[in-house]
Amino acid sequence: MIVAEQKPLEAVLKMMAPYQRVLVVGCASCVSVCLAGGEREVSVLSSLARLARGTQGASIEIAEATVHRQCDQEFLLPLASQVEAAEAVFSLGCGCGVQLMAETFPHRRVFPLLDTKFMGITLQPGVWVERCRGCGECILDRTGGICPIARCSKGLLNGPCGGYRDGKCEVDTAVDCAWLLIFNRLQTLGELESLRAIMEPKDWSEAAVGRPRQVVREDVKVPIEEVIA
Ligand code: SF4
Ligand code: SF4
Repeated sequence: MIVAEQKPLEAVLKMMAPYQRVLVVGCASCVSVCLAGGEREVSVLSSLARLARGTQGASIEIAEATVHRQCDQEFLLPLASQVEAAEAVFSLGCGCGVQLMAETFPHRRVFPLLDTKFMGITLQPGVWVERCRGCGECILDRTGGICPIARCSKGLLNGPCGGYRDGKCEVDTAVDCAWLLIFNRLQTLGELESLRAIMEPKDWSEAAVGRPRQVVREDVKVPIEEVIA
């Protein structure tokens, strides 16, 4: 899932300051799982904003909505009348949700209330960690299912840097050395010999550092107009 964190309340209030009537929109998918932008967070944040405005002797009308996914236009279009009635929209979706909201309603300012962090997993309740950097060419089959790009601080592809101590990464001693994890996993699988094969330089043109990417499936492609008709 995409993991995100709410911006500090002060930053939210500063963005809302020019407006009297706003719409706060949550997303019931990834960002609700990491407790950043779901229905509950929409409600709590809206209440805090109303209280803050009240302490200034003023008021603000905040309409609340939460859609199934902000990154699919079919879930955004039913918000049209609420968007129309608001002076500005405040999104508790990830960066993709904010952008599609702005594309769908180009005549309204759309503000991001989250800082989008990474693709990750729930390690335990309250702890989410990065597991994938969307490199575009997955190599987990060669590394025992442990990603050296997302989990090695240096993104090394052919073994550790030699800086790890007591199984921890030299860049951040709070995290395990990814290459020690890979070694241990391959040992468990009886596949240590596979480490002798040198990994060729990766094709980074397929990674996030290159051009904007897209995935197209011609067999299921349908014009968006037909979907939202
Ligand atoms: S190798 Fe690439 S696609 Fe696979 S988990 Fe790592 S970053 Fe993600
Ligand atoms: S200590 Fe391990 S995880 Fe950290 S940078 Fe070196 S090889 Fe990567």
